[in-house]
Amino acid sequence: MDQASIDKLRATDVPLQGHFIGGRSVPAAEGGTLDVISPIDGSVLTQIADGSAADVARAVGSAREAFEDGRWSRMAPAARKKVLLRLADLIEARALELAVLGVRDNGTEIGMAFKAEALSAANTFRYYGEAIDKIYGQIAPTADNVLGLVHHGPVGVVGAIVPWNFPLMIGSWKIAPALAAGNSLVLKPGETASLTLLRIAELASEAGLPDGVFNVVTGRGATAGEALALSMDVDVLVFTGSGGTGRRLLEYSARSNLKRCYLELGGKSPNIVFNDAPDLAAAAATSAGGIFRNSGQVCVAGSRLLVQEDIAEDFVQALTQHAEAFVVGDPLDLNSQIGAVHSDVQLRANLGFVARAEAEGAERRTGGAQILQDTGGFYMQPTIISGVKPTDHLFCNEVFGPVLAVTTFRDEDEAIRLANGTDFGLAAGVWTSNLSRAHRMIGRIRSGVIHVNTYGGSDLTVPLGGHKQSGNGHDKSLHAMEKYMDLKTAWIAL
Ligand code: NAD
Repeated sequence: MDQASIDKLRATDVPLQGHFIGGRSVPAAEGGTLDVISPIDGSVLTQIADGSAADVARAVGSAREAFEDGRWSRMAPAARKKVLLRLADLIEARALELAVLGVRDNGTEIGMAFKAEALSAANTFRYYGEAIDKIYGQIAPTADNVLGLVHHGPVGVVGAIVPWNFPLMIGSWKIAPALAAGNSLVLKPGETASLTLLRIAELASEAGLPDGVFNVVTGRGATAGEALALSMDVDVLVFTGSGGTGRRLLEYSARSNLKRCYLELGGKSPNIVFNDAPDLAAAAATSAGGIFRNSGQVCVAGSRLLVQEDIAEDFVQALTQHAEAFVVGDPLDLNSQIGAVHSDVQLRANLGFVARAEAEGAERRTGGAQILQDTGGFYMQPTIISGVKPTDHLFCNEVFGPVLAVTTFRDEDEAIRLANGTDFGLAAGVWTSNLSRAHRMIGRIRSGVIHVNTYGGSDLTVPLGGHKQSGNGHDKSLHAMEKYMDLKTAWIAL
């Protein structure tokens, strides 16, 4: 990856994008389009189709037909595997092109977009492609006059609704296992980050995925998203996004065909630093990355720092130095470490959180302002707010921006109470040299992921899912396959 190649790609025009239905690009049934605003400079990058219920019906119909005639669902697993591995190769070959397109669409810094979006998507298709022909059914231990067989089969038509942050990575976490299991799929990307997922659908076709198996309908949540979630012909809905939308999807399911809903929702993840952390300097550096990378627009961001009171002042000062040292700027410039906030709406919401925290008596230690206004884009300083009380708005609510809330604690019990003191339960971090304490914290903190003496690392081999109001079900690892497969028992008299 070099600057000249990036600059060449950023200069290319992006044509108007249709939906991807039945193996080809099609305009919106009602002809509507939405402008795609680049967070880099606020310019109109292109337009996408503004999907309606008619578009969703067409896409679901296409997916259902493909599922029922078996063109993919009954294809031999080894043949399905070849298609997904070819797709992984195609994504990898076009990784920089995809990464630059994604950055122009959503503002993530290019180094991160290249690895965590494009290359990670290739890896995800390869992982689930490889898994396809390694999942066996079971024979039950019955009496010898019967045979009990347990089959795993595809569920049918999957509806997937994903957010604007890391669209390729999160989209692939759903598309790859859904396809691997033999399902057909209709995907609704975030309305402000659809471009790379439309490109993946084209590449899937090029890799040999039969038409109609993977469809993408773009557009707004309240129209295209709602129609997909209300569809009587979608068997399972997989979602990543906010808790508010997650609640609506459960309602839509209840109002339609009781489709299963798997929800990966938001977080307000505690990063807990004890005075016996093995290396406080390393803890400060990693904790800064754990909240500020991608402008804090990471579901597992360590957005609440809980720090033991006797080290709090020194630790916050070290963190502040890291926060102020980050280079925030054009996400397609290789020198930038943090890119743009995704949208003007998101930026205004972030600034609103800062103002409210100050009004509630917390102290702004650094940041808190919009910067680089002359670019026309949406940029914000990494922000640290200390003295945040457990009842404060900033303590209890997800910002989804570069804003860290700092609260102090006296001892382990108080740290656990504070850590568990929100409705969320997505991720957590614990910094301590005490092995027994680390295990006690793993046991008592209610969250889907706990980092010990690090923050934010992961890979595809481990599941990601929320506890409490951070959701249900899991993306990543072989556990993700469970959402996309139905068990069927055959009871055979011998
Ligand atoms: P969002 O809920 O606003 O939107 C997510 C998706 O839902 C978009 O495609 C949107 O168009 C669609 N949608 C919105 N309203 C809908 C409706 N009424 N019916 C159907 N679909 C609808 O979330 P967002 O702002 O795009 O994403 C940020 C949120 O996602 C944050 O809360 C973040 O924590 C969460 N997130 C969670 C994870 C995880 O793995 N748990 C990962 C990334 C992001």
